[in-house]
Amino acid sequence: MQSFALFAVKYTRIVGRDRDMESHMKPIDHWMNDPSARAAAASFGDGSAIVETAIAIQQIPAPTFDEARRSAEVAERMRALGLADVRIDTVGNVYGRRPGHTGGPRLLIAAHLDTVFPAGTDLAIRYEGARIYGPGLGDNSMGVAALLHLAYALGQADVANAGDIWFVGNVGEEGLGDLRGMRAAVDTLGDRIGAAIALEGCEPGRIIHAGRRCGSWGSTNSSGSMMCGAARSSTSRSASASPTSRKS
Ligand SMILES: [Zn+2]
Repeated sequence: MQSFALFAVKYTRIVGRDRDMESHMKPIDHWMNDPSARAAAASFGDGSAIVETAIAIQQIPAPTFDEARRSAEVAERMRALGLADVRIDTVGNVYGRRPGHTGGPRLLIAAHLDTVFPAGTDLAIRYEGARIYGPGLGDNSMGVAALLHLAYALGQADVANAGDIWFVGNVGEEGLGDLRGMRAAVDTLGDRIGAAIALEGCEPGRIIHAGRRCGSWGSTNSSGSMMCGAARSSTSRSASASPTSRKS
């Protein structure tokens, strides 16, 4: 779970359903003291590179059911990062694997590729002070950028993850997509997944680590919260990406 800690090290606060926040911080503190996690977090710099990536992603239209161009771009970037087994599945999900060293539990880290904005939307961004506005920038180009930069950070610090880490850009998260991309990813990776983190760009600085069974994700695991409640983290406060979209 080192990758989970990386964002906590640098950017996040923890949001839980119960009030015992201190107890939830302990594992984060543990990883904050891990030299490789700290080195990986350092590679994020001031966050400007993440924002640059997010804007590049945001400029590629990706309405739900029409994410192919963005999928191809993310796949290309995953290959450039040196991830293994990069491929696009039949629904358009992009997969890349960071091999584990001991065959321990696998970790799925996902960010949805699609946006609520229809084809033809003007994707121009604008800057207002420290804030950046653009359709779909926060939801979820920032999440996708975080996914890619997390893979980069782990590589830069040569983090020795025990189990495989699967980075997934998933399609069909919004509206009528009905989570079809994540359903396909879970079906594909199956019991190789030991834990999951979903990256969202709309709530900078937050990790939600617990949640109720939600909607169509219901039949997941014994806690009933495999993906939707496992974690929805966002990225850099310094990014200040402020979507004009609704929160998904
Ligand atoms: Zn979203």
